[in-house]
Amino acid sequence: MNTSKAVLEKVRLSIGKGEPFSFDIQRDDLIDPIISGNKWRKLKYNLLKAEELFKLGVLTFGGPFSNHLIATAKAAHHFNLKSIGIVRGNELNQDSNATLKACPDFGMNLIFISRSEYQRKDDPYFLKELSSKYPDYFIVPEGGKNYYGVIGCQHILKETDNDYDHIYLAGGTGTTAAGVVLSVPDKTTVNLVSALKGDFLEKEIKQLLYLVLNDNQLVDEYMQRLNVVNDGHFGGYAKVPEELLDFINTIYSKIQLKLDPIYTGKAFYKLVNDFENGTIKVNDKVLFIHTGGLQGAQTWKDKIDFL
Ligand SMILES: *Cc1c(COP(=O)(O)O)cnc(C)c1O
Repeated sequence: MNTSKAVLEKVRLSIGKGEPFSFDIQRDDLIDPIISGNKWRKLKYNLLKAEELFKLGVLTFGGPFSNHLIATAKAAHHFNLKSIGIVRGNELNQDSNATLKACPDFGMNLIFISRSEYQRKDDPYFLKELSSKYPDYFIVPEGGKNYYGVIGCQHILKETDNDYDHIYLAGGTGTTAAGVVLSVPDKTTVNLVSALKGDFLEKEIKQLLYLVLNDNQLVDEYMQRLNVVNDGHFGGYAKVPEELLDFINTIYSKIQLKLDPIYTGKAFYKLVNDFENGTIKVNDKVLFIHTGGLQGAQTWKDKIDFL
């Protein structure tokens, strides 16, 4: 992976008959095709911590199509660390899909557990059992959602002027957004479009901010910069309606930007919508953070023009 590839791109996009919109895109998707974008940002300091603790490897968790799981496998390999991936679903095996097939190629040892057991992934007793079973492994939570993950995401805007009025990005665990919120000036609104149904993200991000700030009042101040969008998920995590696929194809035909239907497509849709409905004012400076994720889009390759 190569963070110097994560260039800032200036874009002009016209949709329909209106004036074209101008904004920037932080192309974190270019860092690496597999350790896509924000996954590298979240893993970097976790892997350095594992090295610092003289661990032989890292252990983490993911669903069967998890971008995080395969990113961990490749990034750990790059650091000469071993990796263990605990996968949700004991009916699966490493031949079940392309994501799972690729993990062992990077040396990841996959362990399949039942959905009910997987629910204990953050349970301190379960984690204690795992660390006594695998004492040489540093445990990274699902999605890289911990202190080190947040710290890595504070670097995303380093090569921008970091003076935006609006930033748009997609959210799963909210770890990336927590890092971004910590690194922007007061005037910036960070619009986080949740890929999942539900209204849990705000609370999760508060907890992540607290890990860094250790002060509830400060957490509340930083939360003012955040706008969680809970109605942009198009029906839920892996629900991909035609309308969203059409949108992704349209954007590709106009500006050759590749979006995925689980995360970035939904966030980009919200950005276009906010330009159209006037939420974004004429002279506002706007940034879209492309967090990657095309690895996971292969499932829809028959319906996405550039796959
Ligand atoms: C994992 C992922 C996200 C979610 O990031 P969080 O830090 O968990 O909110 C967003 N976009 C893409 C493309 C992803 O793969």
